[in-house]
Amino acid sequence: MNPLLDFSGLPKFESFSPALVKPAIEQLIADARRTVMDVCAASASPSWTNVVTPIDDVTERLGRAWGMVGHLNAVVNSPALRDAYNDMLPTITQFWTQLSQNEALFAKYKQIRASSDTSAPNTPPIGELSSAQKRSLDNEIRDFRLGGAELSLADKASFQAVQEELSTLMSKFNDNVLDATNAFGHIVIDEGELAGLPEDAVEAARELAAADGQAGWKFTLQAPSYMPVMQYAAGQPLRELMYRAYVTRASELGAKAAWDNTAVIKRILELRAASAKLLGFHNYAEVSLAAKMAETPDEVINFLSEMAAKSRPFAVQDWHELQAFARGHLNMAEVNAWDVAYASEKLRQQRYAFSDNDVKQYFPEAKVIAGLFRVVESIYGVKLSSSAAQTWHKDVQFYDVCDRDGTLIGQFYFDLYARENKRGGAWMDDAINRRRIGGTEDNSGTEDNSGSSGNRGNSGHIQHPVAFMTCNFPAPVGRGDQLRPALFTHDDVITLFHEFGHGLHQLLTEVDELGVSGISGVEWDAVELPSQFMENFCWEWDVLQHMTCHVESGEALPRALFDKMIAAKNFQAGMQFLRQIEFALLDMVAHTSFDVETDTILALAERVRHEVAVIKYPHFNRMPHAFGHVFGGGYAAGYYSYKWAEVLSADAYAAFEETGVLNAETGARFRREVLARGGSRPAMESFIAFRGRKPEIEHLLRHNGMKLAA
Ligand code: ZN
Repeated sequence: MNPLLDFSGLPKFESFSPALVKPAIEQLIADARRTVMDVCAASASPSWTNVVTPIDDVTERLGRAWGMVGHLNAVVNSPALRDAYNDMLPTITQFWTQLSQNEALFAKYKQIRASSDTSAPNTPPIGELSSAQKRSLDNEIRDFRLGGAELSLADKASFQAVQEELSTLMSKFNDNVLDATNAFGHIVIDEGELAGLPEDAVEAARELAAADGQAGWKFTLQAPSYMPVMQYAAGQPLRELMYRAYVTRASELGAKAAWDNTAVIKRILELRAASAKLLGFHNYAEVSLAAKMAETPDEVINFLSEMAAKSRPFAVQDWHELQAFARGHLNMAEVNAWDVAYASEKLRQQRYAFSDNDVKQYFPEAKVIAGLFRVVESIYGVKLSSSAAQTWHKDVQFYDVCDRDGTLIGQFYFDLYARENKRGGAWMDDAINRRRIGGTEDNSGTEDNSGSSGNRGNSGHIQHPVAFMTCNFPAPVGRGDQLRPALFTHDDVITLFHEFGHGLHQLLTEVDELGVSGISGVEWDAVELPSQFMENFCWEWDVLQHMTCHVESGEALPRALFDKMIAAKNFQAGMQFLRQIEFALLDMVAHTSFDVETDTILALAERVRHEVAVIKYPHFNRMPHAFGHVFGGGYAAGYYSYKWAEVLSADAYAAFEETGVLNAETGARFRREVLARGGSRPAMESFIAFRGRKPEIEHLLRHNGMKLAA
């Protein structure tokens, strides 16, 4: 049997081969299309059972099979698999696009949702929907609307035309930045100009020049070449030259008029505003927030302004300290924008010198994993144990997550080491999502009767969630007696906790409906709550005591080193905060009150800087022209999400600080009100249910060393 068509349990990795992709996916798409057609053509009055369940069934199968292909393509890539993947990608994309524009289906979803509103609240009839089901339908209906499904025929055509032009322009924006970045190269001939640069950066520059058949050293605007110059090059002229090239990329001051993003930005903002108007919103920020936790652009702007006001005194202090240090120790009369990274690095070294490599010796893999599991088991009352399953590589580990009484809750794969043909970075992905299968709608009481998650009755059986957790840490070296365990940097440890937080959101869900179980249906600006929350434990002395063990001496992390790590973490936190807030405000204002006739993005950027920035930007700075998150990516009116989610996670963690960070009662409440609920209700409701109030920003400031005087 084709393993991609076998949904009887865990994925059958051992019998997978790339040649099986096409037949399986084609069959699943054909099945799905047929089911969609049957469902849409049926004359019976639409219900959850005769519409949503069959659509969920077929799309889940396709999603699971394609998810397995995508996962393998990322972690054990090969030419044959890549071809098989790319070969099917357009067909898959087309299927999802058509489904999201299927008006007959949209009409049925609306009918089911409307009929659930008309029944009397105290006497739910047979077929009454649970709150999770309502939430799931509301999400579907919202996405149909945002896709233009309710527009008149003429408006639909305009909307489509706007979308197409937008996607072309966003791609053009990215191409311009990329071309402008790639085109730049600066050759240094005088060795004296290299003073201060680390050896590896000098060697890389020599190789770049040699590759061009030139003598000397070549520097580019790619991060591995640009960053060391800004951070370490002692000569100011080289830093200034590189800085100027970097911040004028893709602008009218850049190397080539064809790469100037000025008009592209203007048109993108104009089109986004136009699409918002067509959908009946005041501006594009409202469209973006429709699927997010933040409710209105004003709420976001107020949030950012408050953060700016509170972090500003600390940023001013950082800035003054940097200037004083530069005058006293670096002979700089003035700190220019191109001196900031250089002077900061010198100050950081002077204050908190310690080596990442020294820290790493305290974090051997087994000790770290045991430390992570100890935290998770203590606060959530679960048991994690090694288990067996088919995998895609010999280094992959597999675990069961059980409740205290031994009941299986979920399972996960750990693929921790970097290797050839594996995509870089770290991420969590769903392999199987929790849902109740075969349950009849025998709801015999009020909704929410099955406990915490707004599920329907208890019939049928539960499909347990399964997660992939993928990282790229160094593998153990040597073999046999000479085997040296994998050592993780502190950053690696934080990454592991972060991804595990996403994993727990997926695994500890108690929701029965596919569309809103685990991380499905969670608002975009709340998704990072459970993951960033977990990072906090990596900065906790009591946790680190049990999670560190020097690879040679066996000693736990010394307190003095820990204190330095904490101090270095908060170095210039005020300035970094303010910089992120400046970008987020620019993004939000550009998508609410930008007037295409009278405004320019530069004037807007200038206003925002005037309001929040402490560092003086040179007049030639054209940062918006390379702001890819917002003009070339998915963060339009969404850049604030980084800080937003950090506030949520810091405040959630503060609840643990108040009761003891491994407090099981607080953990049980977090599990019940946040993790278990997944996307089945608004994230704000879950947060308030856990914390007893709305989020407060003080905790994030405090965690970053910005404690306000009382
Ligand atoms: Zn994350």
